[in-house]
Amino acid sequence: MQKALFLDRDGVINIDHGYVYKIEDFEFTEGIFELLRFFIEKGYLLFIVTNQSGIGRDYYSEEDFQVLTSWMLDEFKKENIDIISVHHCNHSPEKNCACRKPQTGMIDKILSQNVIDLGSSWLIGDKQSDIDLAKNSKIKNTIAIGERTIENTSLSFKTILECRDYFDDNKIKIL
Ligand SMILES: [Mg+2]
Ligand SMILES: [Zn+2]
Repeated sequence: MQKALFLDRDGVINIDHGYVYKIEDFEFTEGIFELLRFFIEKGYLLFIVTNQSGIGRDYYSEEDFQVLTSWMLDEFKKENIDIISVHHCNHSPEKNCACRKPQTGMIDKILSQNVIDLGSSWLIGDKQSDIDLAKNSKIKNTIAIGERTIENTSLSFKTILECRDYFDDNKIKIL
């Protein structure tokens, strides 16, 4: 069984400017590459799970999302970061789909394709729905990023940079 790190995208990997779909608006958060490399060094598989209701709301297209995703994955590769797969929910909230976080559809899909030990896995998000997804999917460890008040999280940090520094100091013990 392998350990996994499940990542939200907007607000974690990139600065959340709201419905980001263009490459020129996609700004990696400071420290994210180093943080992800800590997890990779410790044997974690990386997955991205992202709500993209902007597609269902017609703010941008599925193709826009896919073009941005390929570019993002190339940038990660240049940084020696391999993402196993990217999963997105393209529905608007009214659809009440099974994949919009905190519903577990995206994690269920990942678990159908990979053998993951959820008890030693982590999820990083910036909204309550991310942390609730972890709880609903039985992903044991969570990190909340940002200024929002988020309940039931294992750890929380104002920024990815603070999170990176914490793991830099403690990764031997934690990961
Ligand atoms: Mg987010
Ligand atoms: Zn969905």
